[in-house]
Parts: sequence; structure tokens; C-alpha cells
Amino acid sequence: MKRKDFLQTLAFLPFFAMNIREFTQISDEFGATPKMPALFIGHGSPMNALEDNAFTKAMKSTGSKFTGELRPNAILVVSAHWLTKGSFVHVSPNPETIHDFGGFPKELFDMQYPAPGSPEYAGLVSEMAPEIHPTTEWGLDHGTWTILKHLFPDADIPVFQVSIDYYQPMQYHFDLSQKLQKLREKGVLIIGSGNIVHNLGMSMGKLMQNDASPYDWAIEFDDFVKTKTENRDFNALIEYEKAGKSAKLSVPTPDHYIPLLYTLGQTQEKDEIKQIYEEVYYGGLSMRTIQIG
Ligand code: ZN
Repeated sequence: MKRKDFLQTLAFLPFFAMNIREFTQISDEFGATPKMPALFIGHGSPMNALEDNAFTKAMKSTGSKFTGELRPNAILVVSAHWLTKGSFVHVSPNPETIHDFGGFPKELFDMQYPAPGSPEYAGLVSEMAPEIHPTTEWGLDHGTWTILKHLFPDADIPVFQVSIDYYQPMQYHFDLSQKLQKLREKGVLIIGSGNIVHNLGMSMGKLMQNDASPYDWAIEFDDFVKTKTENRDFNALIEYEKAGKSAKLSVPTPDHYIPLLYTLGQTQEKDEIKQIYEEVYYGGLSMRTIQIG
């Protein structure tokens, strides 16, 4: 841990000690809630926040199902756009909307997602997995707010992010997520936000020419992930590089793939696995979205 992060952690300790105790009492009073599903969402371009297309319609329809007793108490997002050394959880009560991109219209930079944070649930995450350190240095990046804008447009459910330790092997992410499975019973909706196939370099030409046709290798790898997910062959997905050339081209860097492992790590024996949305386009971009439970 960096010295600065360490000092920040120290500064939060008394605060957490209090909140975790309070939280435990509160959650005991509330008792068990119906187990929340977990989602993996292919977020694609930040422009989806402004657009009305087949993907955003699927997000709206998915969000509309999380009402009544399935309305989340809080939402935990693991986004491809928060990469760190060490694992962190963002604990601010009012996370800022981060516009972590360039070259997009002003309308997108003007967008806000003013959901509250959840220091209480974030504190619980650190308690369940002490290797996840609290921090106030982040907010909601576009991997989070561009999809929540459609899933939960009212921005009235507390949201907090957990970072991706980019220095850890794939197995670490899957195992870390497994330690957090109990959050689902406390009404926390866990979302991994990335893209199964994400090769922007090879998609750029097609994007420029507005050619939405996918590459064969992108279809092949997307299909591999779908099949292995449905067969619950999670080892094959942790060791995805063994899938060969299609994996290499689809996952040139693992940042957008890793969030999938956080979603899959939530799978329990009785969970159904559903494909919410599937589309591979503009060469090498997969929008596949999966629901566990
Ligand atoms: Zn992204």
C-alpha cells in the first residue's frame, strides 16, 4: 500500500469501527433479504449513456425488474476503468461523477449521476475481505454511471465501487469475489462492468466506416465465454488465455475482461445463469450481458 493510502486507511479506522458495529445491528434487525442476483454488463461506448438503442433498452428493462423486495439496498460495481495496485473500496458518502474519457460531446461531460455512496456497505466489504482497503480517492467512473443511468435512472440507490488490482492474477479476482457472496443476502446488487471482447485498436477502422460487422475471432471468443459460463466451467474462464488466438485478439489487455470474474465469483449452486443481452459488433466489441441468480 502507498504511504498516502495507508494514512488514509488509518484516518478512516475509527469511523469504520463505529459504522460496522451500527451496520451489523441494522442488518440483524432487517434480517435476511431475498438473495440479489449479480450482473455482468458489457458497457461499450460512453455514448450509450445518451443513446436509445437495443442495448440501452435491455438495460432499462433489466433495471425495471429490480423493484419491490428485489430493490437493492446498495449497488457495488467493479468497473474496468478503476485499475489500482492493491484492492480498494470507495467509501465517500457522495461519490462524484467522473468523466474519464476524451473527445465526446459536451452533453456527455455535463451528465451527472448523483447517487449517494454507501460508507456502511463499503465498510462491510473491507470487513469481509480485509485485503480491500477503504479510500476516498475515486467516485463513479463511466463504466459505472453510463450503465446505471439506464438501469436505475432515478439515481436514488447508494452506489460504491471496488477497484481492480491490476497486478494480480485472474484467480485472485474470482476468489476475492467469492469472499463477498454474503453481500447478495444483504440486498447488495453486485455488477461487473467491462466487455468480454474489447479490442479498440482493431475496431477503430470499422467504427470510422460505420461498419458494424464483427470479426470471426470476436464471435468465437464471445461464444466460448457464453458456453463456458453456462457450463459453469469457471476454470476455463479464469484461464481464458488457453483458448488461444481468439482470446489473444479479444482480450489484448485484461482490464475489460476482469469484471466478468467478479460476477462469476458470485455464482452459487442454485443460481440460474441467464443471457440478458448479446451483440458483437464493430469488429471486436462484445456487449454480452449476463445475470447470475
Ligand atoms: Zn470501458
